[in-house]
Amino acid sequence: MFKDRDLRKLCEDSFSRVKHDMDQLNVKQTDQQKEMDQMKEKLLNLYGMLTDMQAALADPVKKESEAKEETKQERKKKDFVVSMRSGKVHQRECFFARKIDPRHRLLFDTKLDAVNDGYAVCSACA
Ligand SMILES: [Zn+2]
Repeated sequence: MFKDRDLRKLCEDSFSRVKHDMDQLNVKQTDQQKEMDQMKEKLLNLYGMLTDMQAALADPVKKESEAKEETKQERKKKDFVVSMRSGKVHQRECFFARKIDPRHRLLFDTKLDAVNDGYAVCSACA
């Protein structure tokens, strides 16, 4: 049988092993938490796009007339459209570019011009 001293040592050893395991689990948990946060952020981005699309689809008549107006107005040359609201630059054909209210629209010859002016590139049409 164990002597008292051995038993005590055994307990201490297993305790420190358990503690070590728990520390490792904690590290894994923070990693997973980070991954979860990143996924959440991606989901929120997607959700934002989705609501934009839903808003556009909810009003197809307006969208069509806007698109016609747009082709007349913007045949000139400028191929890049900035939304002053979102601060994003789109190619003119981009789904989101078509929805920008004319009052909040800026036109650029090149994407670089817009980026140099501080606008972010759209993730859908970049
Ligand atoms: Zn776009």
